[in-house]
Amino acid sequence: MSSDCIFCKIAAGDLPCKKVYEDGDLIAFHDIHPIAPVHFMIVPKEHLGSLADAHARHEMLLGRMLLLAPVLAKEQGLEDGFRTVINTGRGGGQEVMHLHMHVFGGGRPRTM
Ligand code: 5GP
Ligand code: ZN
Repeated sequence: MSSDCIFCKIAAGDLPCKKVYEDGDLIAFHDIHPIAPVHFMIVPKEHLGSLADAHARHEMLLGRMLLLAPVLAKEQGLEDGFRTVINTGRGGGQEVMHLHMHVFGGGRPRTM
């Protein structure tokens, strides 16, 4: 855990969130500033700064994040499909420096 990291604090239960899912390795919660009618994030509990900090030992964790997305999207009512985004680094628009995958949808899809 990184002591000044918002998502570490959420994962530890020290900051509140609108939780969607939790297990031993992952937590998912709604984005505080949603950009679509449904917008949540899948976050590893381990502090990983970004995708650029992931290593081979994180292969299973990353795979679990991807496999969880369609399950939770469906549970959240995104029957029709959804988008996933992982911003990496300042140049990639990342604001919270703890790896997270955005899952959102339910509105008119935006072009990339
Ligand atoms: P990034 O740009 O790093 O990919 O996205 C960070 C996201 O975290 C933003 O969409 C922002 O709205 C969300 N966020 C920032 N602080 C909090 C918070 O304290 N709680 C929740 N639920 N979301 C947050
Ligand atoms: Zn963290």
